[in-house]
Amino acid sequence: MNIGFDIDDTLINLREHAFHIYNTKLGKQVDIALFHQLKRVEIHELFGLNDEQGHHLWNSLVEEIYFSDCPAFEGAIEFVNRLEREGHAIFYITSRPKQYCQKTRNWLKEKGFPVVDRQFYCGMKDHEKVEIIKKLELDVYFDDKPAVLETLKSSNIHVYVKNQSYNEQVLFPRVYEWNNFQLF
Ligand SMILES: [Mg+2]
Repeated sequence: MNIGFDIDDTLINLREHAFHIYNTKLGKQVDIALFHQLKRVEIHELFGLNDEQGHHLWNSLVEEIYFSDCPAFEGAIEFVNRLEREGHAIFYITSRPKQYCQKTRNWLKEKGFPVVDRQFYCGMKDHEKVEIIKKLELDVYFDDKPAVLETLKSSNIHVYVKNQSYNEQVLFPRVYEWNNFQLF
């Protein structure tokens, strides 16, 4: 099968990684329990920042957030490798900005994810992912973000949502744990 993955907060724990960086940079000790209750993807409100300030802080730290040692979710690297061993084609579709695409692809490889260069798609907007996902004729696709998942509602693709506090309203089947996750 053709199996596609979003990266951030689907395979790797990027927001939580950013949360710890924010605490350090801003000299705060915001409780992680509050992070786990957030109902939106953005994390800046926990630090008393409005959207504009939050956007600015994210952009100023994004390189460090992306390329310091953000952990993969437990079992995620093993799961994707298992699918590849079983003969599936693995695709990555990430809306990280274009200037970080090549470095992101290398970072994924270093981390131990199986990456075929021509099966790595990057630099699109959230709403453009659906076109790529359809064009690639993916059989299965995993993402965490409600704005992306919304666009896949009417497709024939087996869509899974990686469980997060901000996507509880999304009605696709859920991945709670990558360890021992089975398709269908
Ligand atoms: Mg994501």
